[in-house]
Amino acid sequence: MYNPVKTKKLVITSPFGRRWDFVNKQWIMHYGIDLRCYDFKNKKFLPFQATENSIVLRIKRDRNDNGIVVLKPLQSNGYKELKYIHIAIESCSLFEGQEIKAGHLLGWSEIRGQSNSHHLHFETINNDGVKINPQIYIDKYLL
Ligand SMILES: [Zn+2]
Repeated sequence: MYNPVKTKKLVITSPFGRRWDFVNKQWIMHYGIDLRCYDFKNKKFLPFQATENSIVLRIKRDRNDNGIVVLKPLQSNGYKELKYIHIAIESCSLFEGQEIKAGHLLGWSEIRGQSNSHHLHFETINNDGVKINPQIYIDKYLL
């Protein structure tokens, strides 16, 4: 798997798993990992990129106004879908059904919907439709 954010070193701002929801005061499950999309040292935003050769399955906004791109990898590596959330879909020049290569630029993060910082919420969905922790696949890129 390529790095889902176009940068050499990734920073996880929120891991996969249960987390405390300060607003609603309850534990909720976080079904992906949050990756920072801003390079503080060089003061620049970091775009999202395809982690493997894929088909663009969906480009949409969900009911919470989050921009989403879903990729279907051409080769299954234990997961059948990759979800990129908090993408400014107006910034991406993709179309559904398009075949893209690993490293293809998808678009940029946005502060909109449920996002209040520039980050990628990244999900991997396995062949049974279950969201699994993507961290093992991107461990080598972590700071
Ligand atoms: Zn998240």
